[in-house]
Amino acid sequence: MSDDIRLQMGLRPIINVSGTMTSLGASIVVPQAVEAIAAALPQFIEIGDLQRLASRTIARLTGGEAGFVTASCAGAITLAVAGTMTGDDLAAIERLPETGRLARDEVLIQAGHMVGYGAPVEQGIRLCGAKAVRVGQATSAEAYQMAGAITARTAAAMFVVSHHTVQYGQMGLAEFIEVAHAHGVPVIVDAASEYDLRGFLAAGADLALYSSHKFLGGPTGGIVAGRRDLVRAAYLQNGGVGRGMKVGKEGIVGTIAALEAWETRDHAGIRARESAALDLWQTTLTGFAGVDPVIDPDPTHNPLDRLKVHVKPAEAHITAWDLADALARHERQPIIVRDHEVEHGYFYLDPCNLHPGQAEIVAERLREELETARRSNDVIASDFAERRKRRAVNRWPD
Ligand SMILES: *Cc1c(COP(=O)(O)O)cnc(C)c1O
Repeated sequence: MSDDIRLQMGLRPIINVSGTMTSLGASIVVPQAVEAIAAALPQFIEIGDLQRLASRTIARLTGGEAGFVTASCAGAITLAVAGTMTGDDLAAIERLPETGRLARDEVLIQAGHMVGYGAPVEQGIRLCGAKAVRVGQATSAEAYQMAGAITARTAAAMFVVSHHTVQYGQMGLAEFIEVAHAHGVPVIVDAASEYDLRGFLAAGADLALYSSHKFLGGPTGGIVAGRRDLVRAAYLQNGGVGRGMKVGKEGIVGTIAALEAWETRDHAGIRARESAALDLWQTTLTGFAGVDPVIDPDPTHNPLDRLKVHVKPAEAHITAWDLADALARHERQPIIVRDHEVEHGYFYLDPCNLHPGQAEIVAERLREELETARRSNDVIASDFAERRKRRAVNRWPD
C-alpha cells in the first residue's frame, strides 16, 4: 500500500505548480502547524483564551493592536465589514443582515477591485447586509470619485491587493487611505495572499485581512489584524452572522503555529530553492523551438518569481493550453500549471508549493510533452472556446 493518502483514497497525486489554490488544497501546511493541530484536536480548549493568544501573536507579527483567527479570509471580509457597521452593539449584531436601523451600511470598493477569487469579493461585503458601493470604472478610479461616493452611511472602504485586480488606473493604497481618513472612514485591506504582514497596517490601514492557508502554510483559516476596537467588533460577529463561518480550535492553533514558524522560517533558503527550480525549468525549455520561458516577478511584489512559458503553436506544434492539459492529464504524475491567462499563449510555473524532487519531475514531463509535440506532424491545437465552455460547467457530483 502506498504511503500517499491520495492514492489510498483513489485520488490523483497532483503536483502543484499553479500557486496556492483553494481548489488544489491551498498550500503545504508547515510541520509545526500539523503537529500543533494534532496535539490540540483531542483536547478541550477555552476558545476565548486561545483567541487571546492568537491576538498577541498576530499583533507581534503584523504590528496591529490586536487580531483574531477566522474560518478564512473570505469570512474575515464579512466579519470585518459587519464590525464597522455594528461596533459592539450585540443586538445590532444579532439583527444582521438587517441593517435598516444602523447609521451606516455602505462599503466603498474600487470597480477594478471587484474581482473573484473563487467567489465575488463584493459578495463577502453584502453577506452581512452591507451595500457594496462601486468607485470609478473598471479601468480607472480617482480620488474625486471616491470622495463623491462617501455619504453619511459609509461604514468602511475595502482595498483589495491581488493579481486579480485591474493592475493600472487604480488609486494606490496611500491615496485610498488619505481620502477615506479625511472623511473618518476606516480602511479594510484584503491582503489574502500577500507575504507582507506589516506593510498595510504601517501604511495606515485600519484592518488587514489574510489567509492562513496561503503563503503562511497554515490550515484553512483567516486573520483579522489592526485597530483594537474594529478587531473586537469583528470578533463579536461570531455571535451572529459569523457562526456559519466558524473556525475551530484546529484552525486557531494551526494559524498561531504557522505565524510562529513564519518568524523563524529560512526565507532566503526557500527563495534559493524556488530559484533553482525556475532555472531548471528555464534550461529545460530553452532549445525547444517556439517555447520562450521568461522569469516573471510577482505582480503584487511578493518575494516570489514564476516562470512564464510562452508557446508558439506553429513552431512548438502545440498550443499553450494543450500543453497545460497534457501535463494535467497524465495518470501517474499529473501536473497542474497556472493557466488563468492561457488564451494569450502562455502559462506560468509557480515554484512555491513544491516537495523535494518535484521540480525535476516537472522538467521531465515538460520535455516529454514537448518532444511528443515536436514529433507530431500536425499542430496539437484544440478549440479554446470549447475548452473554456467545458471548464465553465461544474458537474459535481457526477
Ligand atoms: C484567496 C483570496 C481571498 C479568499 O481567501 P480565503 O482565505 O481562501 O477565503 C480573498 N481575497 C483575495 C484577494 C484572495 O486572493
